[in-house]
Amino acid sequence: MDLDNTDVYILKHLQDNARMSFRELAKKVGVSVPTISARVRTLEKLGIIRGYRTDINPERLDECQIVLLVKCTPSVKSEVATALAEIEEIREVMTTRGPRVVALATVKHQEDIDGLLERVSKVSDVLDYEHLVVAGVVKAVSSALITEGLSTSLICYQCKDLIHGDPVKVRMDRKDHYFCCHSCEKLYVERYLRIKEKALA
Ligand SMILES: [Zn+2]
Repeated sequence: MDLDNTDVYILKHLQDNARMSFRELAKKVGVSVPTISARVRTLEKLGIIRGYRTDINPERLDECQIVLLVKCTPSVKSEVATALAEIEEIREVMTTRGPRVVALATVKHQEDIDGLLERVSKVSDVLDYEHLVVAGVVKAVSSALITEGLSTSLICYQCKDLIHGDPVKVRMDRKDHYFCCHSCEKLYVERYLRIKEKALA
């Protein structure tokens, strides 16, 4: 599904400032407040807007950041990544096309690095790892690059799985809703109508 320029501008502004009000966004993008609120809700439902977080600077808290390059058997890459993600100090985990998982970690003090590495080495199927201690962060921005002509793969509004092939599309209250199958559609529509009925009662 393609995103139009209204979506792109909304994403661009919210990426810069998640606290921008719908009124302010409407003014900047040049559409009405209800349009903004409907678009933002859709962008959230599509899983494009993941959330609204405060960007806290770990350097200002004198914390220590570490880049981890973890080597494992390619067939268990996602299991290793999931296990690493469970370690609290590990803040970001990426699988790569090769046999490596890349992770970014933050510890309170330099002395805590060994403890973290110990836990990393104990994750099953980790063959080897390297770590780099960050000396300075030059740029740290939200990773999505927002430009015109973006598109997204659809996720099911009910089960949140990626939709393969043609989606089941239902238009309710002047908005498109997408589903992976008719049973998801049925579950969602039933709940939607129930909630709506309650709200009107
Ligand atoms: Zn589904």
